[in-house]
Amino acid sequence: MLNREVKSGVHLIHGYSNSFIVEAEDGLVLIDAGFNPQAKSIRRYIREKLPRRKVKAIVITHNHVDHVRGLRCLVKEYSPEVLAHPADSAVIRGEAPYSVRGGLLKPLFWILLRLFDTPKVEVSRELTDGEKYSTLTVIHTPGHTSGHLSFLDEKRSILFTGDAIADRRGRLALPPNIFNQNPSDVKKSALKLAGLEFETLLPSHGEPILSDASQVFRNSPLLKTLN
Ligand SMILES: [Zn+2]
Ligand SMILES: [Zn+2]
Repeated sequence: MLNREVKSGVHLIHGYSNSFIVEAEDGLVLIDAGFNPQAKSIRRYIREKLPRRKVKAIVITHNHVDHVRGLRCLVKEYSPEVLAHPADSAVIRGEAPYSVRGGLLKPLFWILLRLFDTPKVEVSRELTDGEKYSTLTVIHTPGHTSGHLSFLDEKRSILFTGDAIADRRGRLALPPNIFNQNPSDVKKSALKLAGLEFETLLPSHGEPILSDASQVFRNSPLLKTLN
């Protein structure tokens, strides 16, 4: 899978979870920091493809380890602003451990997550529903975590869903319930996203839907399961 510019000024970096680089007038805005603790693919991509651009900010969809583990390294290298929802900030700051729901697997997850350090970086600014940051409108989509955020780039007509909606081998899907803090809110949040207009859907897991994405979503089998 190729790391690439998926739409003008928006770059997809694959990883255990995808990260995105959004070009803005005054620098680059990263969406999520990925699972690799050195953020290798993200740093290499910037070095090779966007070497003269300043990384001005990293916005975080949510505090799961596969989305924030590269954060400390990226902050050290670029000194960007770090932005997240207040409900997810404590883990990023290192004031709380990674949380797990996990069901019957909870003890296993609990042990696994103790292997990973939280990023322990300062959240410079907290984002709440409806506000704008750079080219992005913040959409609070709680459920997967209570501070989960999706982002709409209205000008480019792109929805970044985070883990609120994933693509699983060509099918839109909700994240598995063992990973969701509040499963009924996950459904409500997905419905909230279904009410928006966007040409392109970029999920943190899976592949993009590049055109007619809000229609594709509204016509998907997933939507029928949400009501
Ligand atoms: Zn997640
Ligand atoms: Zn994820």
